[in-house]
Amino acid sequence: MIQSYKQKPRLQETYDTIIIGSGMGGLTTAAILSKEGQKVLVLERHYTAGGFTHIFKRKGYEWDVGIHYIGEVQRENSMLKKLFDYVTDGELKWADMGEVYDRIIIGDQHFDLVKGVKNFKNQMISYFPEEEKAINKYVDLVFMAVKTSKNYYISKAISPFWNNLLGWFLRKPFYKFADKTTY
Ligand SMILES: Cc1cc2nc3c(=O)[nH]c(=O)nc-3n(C[C@H](O)[C@H](O)[C@H](O)COP(=O)(O)OP(=O)(O)OC[C@H]3O[C@@H](n4cnc5c(N)ncnc54)[C@H](O)[C@@H]3O)c2cc1C
Repeated sequence: MIQSYKQKPRLQETYDTIIIGSGMGGLTTAAILSKEGQKVLVLERHYTAGGFTHIFKRKGYEWDVGIHYIGEVQRENSMLKKLFDYVTDGELKWADMGEVYDRIIIGDQHFDLVKGVKNFKNQMISYFPEEEKAINKYVDLVFMAVKTSKNYYISKAISPFWNNLLGWFLRKPFYKFADKTTY
């Protein structure tokens, strides 16, 4: 149950877990812990819950402040899909973004970002043929960074004992990418 700032909070004496912040991270953690039987309190300093999932309206258009699409949910066995299915009891249905998921317009030129890794690379190469090598290298690097990030996040979730023992080895490959500047 979400209580708004207009209501006087009805707090209980004790909670198993108190979570500060009601963005996707806080709410997902709260949902998982509640499903596991914990009594959870989520505290939010804004007047409504949701963090970067909020939207606002101007001149008849709807804008998102953060999240506008989520990747990996089309793959049945992806971690994200499993997570969303778990916290929503499989009720959340996903809408496909279509072939062109983003369009960048600069002056009278436009650049489509298209679905699928191979299609994406080919589309970018069609705009910038002289950059073919760099485009391929960039996309491969993104995938390598994502791959190494999994162990980084695992190191954040394991107990302090295992973290002391293995944490550095789990995190190190990711730092190779995360510590680099864009230059
Ligand atoms: C412009 C933009 C576009 C993005 N687009 C995408 C996208 O398309 N797809 C995608 O997957 N990700 C996207 N992201 C990233 C995504 O929005 C974030 O990774 C995600 O929302 C972070 O969730 P969170 O729960 O960690 O934090 P947040 O959503 O930031 O929530 C944190 C909450 O904690 C509250 N809070 C903070 N401090 C306190 C305090 N002391 N006491 C009480 N409450 C507190 C805040 O008010 C807020 O509600 C985008 C981000 C931005 C900025």
